[in-house]
Amino acid sequence: MPPLIFAGECRNLQAKLAACATGEAFWLQGGDCAESFSHFSANRIRDSFRVLLQMAVVMIYGGGIPVVKVGRLAGQFAKPRSADMETIDGIALPSYRGDIINGSEFTADARIPDPRRLVKAYNQSAATLNLLRGFSSGGYAGLQRVMQWNLDFMGRSDEGQQYLELAGQVDDAIQFMTACGMSPDNPLMNETDFYVSHEALLLDYEAALTREDSTTGLWYDCSGHFLWIGERTRQLDGAHLEFARGIANPLGVKVSQKMEPSELVSLIATLNPENTPGRLAVIVRMGADQVHKKLPGLVRAVQQAGQTVTWISDPMHGNTESCNGYKTRRYDRVRAEVEAFFDVHEALGTVPGGVHLEMTGDNVTECLGGGSSIEATDLESRYHTFCDPRLNAEQALEMSFFVASRLRR
Ligand code: PEP
Ligand code: MN
Repeated sequence: MPPLIFAGECRNLQAKLAACATGEAFWLQGGDCAESFSHFSANRIRDSFRVLLQMAVVMIYGGGIPVVKVGRLAGQFAKPRSADMETIDGIALPSYRGDIINGSEFTADARIPDPRRLVKAYNQSAATLNLLRGFSSGGYAGLQRVMQWNLDFMGRSDEGQQYLELAGQVDDAIQFMTACGMSPDNPLMNETDFYVSHEALLLDYEAALTREDSTTGLWYDCSGHFLWIGERTRQLDGAHLEFARGIANPLGVKVSQKMEPSELVSLIATLNPENTPGRLAVIVRMGADQVHKKLPGLVRAVQQAGQTVTWISDPMHGNTESCNGYKTRRYDRVRAEVEAFFDVHEALGTVPGGVHLEMTGDNVTECLGGGSSIEATDLESRYHTFCDPRLNAEQALEMSFFVASRLRR
């Protein structure tokens, strides 16, 4: 199958990830926990893309720095699971591992892995990426359209109102710059860079899409621009690290409170032996309470080893809880983890480089709280995720205002 992305795009993204390590840009990565075959539609892709654009505008305008937009999209299908089996009403079946492997329905048939799913996931990724590329360069993402990127809730919610006010200011700024002589045809005003990413979990799939770049002779995994290694597969002597160190894409590694400082230093040395800026992001996901206890030790160890990484906060995966039988996350805890992440870096004089969120453009009820005050009894009304609970559009936008307020300092 043809590559989905081009090696030169990975190099551009690597330069941007390097800028995020020094505070010259900020990394915004977001999307579904797991993409699915059944929720695949143009409208959903557009809505996810649009919320990410809106969040980026809030962060650029409010925070005053460029924002690198990266979707957990066009390839985010494979899921690591804590348990091999799932038991419901005394019946045990193999766990769902993402649509690229088996089906989510709780039947013995659905849970049998089917290799044809690999091809379907590839094809869906290609179609998704094709539309995203069209949105990015075809005018949809033009800054003069900030007012038009309206979602249904915009007029009603507090975040929506805040966004519309800010969009009005961006409009004024664009009019000002146009009056000063900037051409409305300037690509800066009409296009955006958008990248795609997923967890490099399924090595058979990733290896099949890995090829040698004819310009540099380096090997790139052409299934996505940015790939990360999950918390469950980051063993120093494991296959995932061995695969990842051989590809030249910019990489991420998820890190929980279980990570020891010396282990992190070894891991970074393995994945980035030349200490290339922008090669590696450490994606911290510890839970709001652990960040103050565990992150400073990790940051200091990396600093002392002279290693350059981009620090990114994933405030989702350490704050999962169960409520009325649903897996959920409280908006307040998610925000608290981002806040702690900024605080620790501020105290140490290091740089908070970005955020990694599970979110959607849909008006779902999967995470509790936030401006829309989703309560425990609301969870059942629109709980649509195939894996972990996502921030809805309103909660995601609210998060971008919070991040912008921290970037301003
Ligand atoms: C994920 O990003 O969906 C995930 C499984 O994360 P982690 O590896 O951090 O648990
Ligand atoms: Mn997840």
